[in-house]
Amino acid sequence: MPVLRGIPRNVVGTRFPLPFRLMRLGIPLERADHEHRVAAVPASVKTFTGWGWDVMVETGAGDAAGFPDDAFVEAGAKIVADPATAHNADLVLRVGQPTFEEVELVPEGAVLAGFLDPFVATDLIKALAARNITALAVEAVPRTTLAQSMDALSSQANIAGYAAVMLAASESPKFPSMLVTAAGTIPPGRALVLGAGVAGLQAIATFRRLGSIVHAYDIRPETKEQVESLGAKFVAAPTIEMDEGGYAKEVDAETAAKQQEILADYAAKADMIVTTAQIPGRPAPTLITADVVAGMHAGSVIVDMAASSGGNVEGTVADEIVHVNGVTIHGPIDLPSRVATDASRMYARNLQELVGRWRTEDGLTVNLEDEVAGPATITHGGQIINPRTRSAMGLEEEPS
Ligand code: NAD
Repeated sequence: MPVLRGIPRNVVGTRFPLPFRLMRLGIPLERADHEHRVAAVPASVKTFTGWGWDVMVETGAGDAAGFPDDAFVEAGAKIVADPATAHNADLVLRVGQPTFEEVELVPEGAVLAGFLDPFVATDLIKALAARNITALAVEAVPRTTLAQSMDALSSQANIAGYAAVMLAASESPKFPSMLVTAAGTIPPGRALVLGAGVAGLQAIATFRRLGSIVHAYDIRPETKEQVESLGAKFVAAPTIEMDEGGYAKEVDAETAAKQQEILADYAAKADMIVTTAQIPGRPAPTLITADVVAGMHAGSVIVDMAASSGGNVEGTVADEIVHVNGVTIHGPIDLPSRVATDASRMYARNLQELVGRWRTEDGLTVNLEDEVAGPATITHGGQIINPRTRSAMGLEEEPS
């Protein structure tokens, strides 16, 4: 397989731990702002201990997600008091990136898995390679049917789509569904969802469950049927066939202007808007201009899920709430973390399945030929081996 090209055979199939001790797995406390998730939950710990692994969970690692230390102990884990011990393992499972100091706490030759932002965070990737850590980035798991149970981008986007709707509905001064009462009939809320990938489809389904009238749009034509199957109406703005990877590409200025013009009418009528349109590795497309926001009615709420890559709405500020003429624009960057219990459950399962690909009788064997874990491996044997990361860093296609 392509990822193997140039990798010496002797770095494929490194075996550890040594036979005389247990495979050690570390689960550190996530210290990043807004991060409430944890990389293992009692159910996954039970599986790991069932595999004969020794699991160390840092004190309080699961507290914010609703998994107290006691629950981990009951599942067979040891609670360890400090980050140095939690990182001193053969395998470290994390949610977010380790700091450079935390990288130094991981033993050379160990495996570390998490959201590592491997195509952007090049300094971190260099540090992991320099320490001879085998880094598995969940962002690089292939989006294939085989890899579905390991696809953390999907599991977390699904949660985020739900959380965005909850945020919009709780901020909206309008009831989301129709209500027939003695005090009068309340018409249903109107929702608009832009981008119908994993997060967008969950947002549509959630708005529908709340009883709202939903319009939705995506540049990819195949999404029309998916949108309609959830009971929403597809907005007739331009659609373009994309490449075989399923991801959208940037559109030309004329198409973008046409999109903005058509969406303006739907935005003006909407009480709640959730935008999710993203293009991997590129700034998010602007779908709602400042003029369109100015034309929206007071009290309407926008949740721009693309805030961290520039936003789909002119005026969005990442991690902030902006008010424009009575319209509220949210740019949250922590949506999965707001549903930390279930986001952690799903993420922990993704990681369990992913590292399970490398499980052997005596612990873990790095196998770069595995169709899922291989492509997700960014560094191994002291080298940066992922072709997309190498290209992002301006390196030759293959390590020497
Ligand atoms: P994403 O988060 O990268 O983007 C969200 C949506 O924004 C996408 O549907 C995209 O088409 C849309 N978008 C981008 N530019 C746009 C524009 N200018 N106007 C309107 N919409 C725009 O996407 P994602 O949710 O990560 O999914 C990406 C693709 O991967 C999809 O095709 C999805 O079906 C596919 N996927 C496949 C699997 C699998 O086969 N197991 C799993 C997950 C995702």
